[in-house]
Order: sequence, then C-alpha cells, then structure tokens
Amino acid sequence: MILSLETFSPDRIIDISVTLRQGLACWPGEEYWQLESTQQIAKGGSCNLSRATMSLHMGTHVDAPWHFGEGDRTVEAIPLSQLVIGARVLDLTHVEAAIGRSDLEGKLDGIQAVLLKTSDSGRLEALEPFNRDFVHLDESAAEYLVEQNISTVGIDYLSVEGYHVENAPVHHRLLGAEVLIVEGLDLSGVEARDYLLVVLPLKIEGADGAPARAILIDSDR
Ligand SMILES: [Zn+2]
Repeated sequence: MILSLETFSPDRIIDISVTLRQGLACWPGEEYWQLESTQQIAKGGSCNLSRATMSLHMGTHVDAPWHFGEGDRTVEAIPLSQLVIGARVLDLTHVEAAIGRSDLEGKLDGIQAVLLKTSDSGRLEALEPFNRDFVHLDESAAEYLVEQNISTVGIDYLSVEGYHVENAPVHHRLLGAEVLIVEGLDLSGVEARDYLLVVLPLKIEGADGAPARAILIDSDR
C-alpha cells in the first residue's frame, strides 16, 4: 500500500498521550514531573532552555521486559514491530476493579495489539490525584493475552497490574512473554474499534521504560 497524504490527514490522527506537566499524578514514591528553566531570553539568555526530572514511568510510557527482570531487553531494544502495529480499542468502561479473561474472550480474534479503555481514562489528563483503585488486569487476563499471541497491550492508567499486587504476576507473565506494555494512555475520546497504533518511546540506552508519544491513525473514516 502506498501511504498517501490523506491517510495521515490530521482528522484521522488521534492523540492518546497524556501531557507531561506539573500536577500530573505519578506512582506513589516515584519522581514526579518537574520542568526547570536553565536559561531564559527574558532574563538575558541567548535562548530558552530547560531540563526535566521525572520517573520514566510517568504519563504515557512503555515498560521494557527488563523492568521486571524478564530477560535483558531494555527500552531501546524494543522492536518497532511492537510499536507501530494494528490495535483494537476495547471499551471496558463497565468493568469495576479487575479485567478478567471473560472480559477479553472472543474480542481479540485476528489482532496483534489491544488497548483497554477503562473508567480511569481521562483521569491523568484531568490532573486527578493518584487513584489506588484503578482498573487493572488480573492474572487470568494476562494469561489470555499471552495465549492469544498479543504483541502489545495498552491501558489508560499507570499500571496493568493492581496497586501493590504481591510479586507482580501480571507484569511477569506479560513481559516474560515479551508482550509490550503501554501504560498511562488517554483513551477517553476514542471509539472502540481498530486503528493503527504508533507509540514511540524515547530511545534511552539501558532503561527499564520510557515516556512515549502515542497516536492512533483511523483508517476507517
Ligand atoms: Zn510502567
């Protein structure tokens, strides 16, 4: 297929990234977002220049397998085939607490990637305080994703796993099977159907994860 300008016209591209900014919720105990000016034109500098401090797992980001010690693949080694991929958005906004196998069964046929839209979508972008009771995957759902050969799974809050679940079985199962995890998406304005997902984490050598810009390209409109 030859990609035309029309394929990429702005109204077919949906931004599903959270804006990194002051006040954005982050995992308790991790480094929150700070942007610091190091030079300002208004104060006589030759340019405006800043530096940022943040946990690499803030906002929209990916988890590399090494994040939970599954193999040695760090973020710069994640294959592009897991980052630019056909993806289905599933509307799971009715699910309370945990997404289980039965919420996914029969809904993943013929797809390589799935993005889970939950009732938490939009909370990060709205700068709501950290919500410990976010909707997450249980072990049966993680097992089903692996069984279905899903390459990439995304969710709209800060973890695919429940808050402080002992031994992180969902992360281990997914990352151990080299399923790419994308967290902190904003799917609040997205209709549940199939898209082309483009998620591009910063290429940081040796990192356990990285912030990413994520977009969906809607080829059906
Ligand atoms: Zn993460």
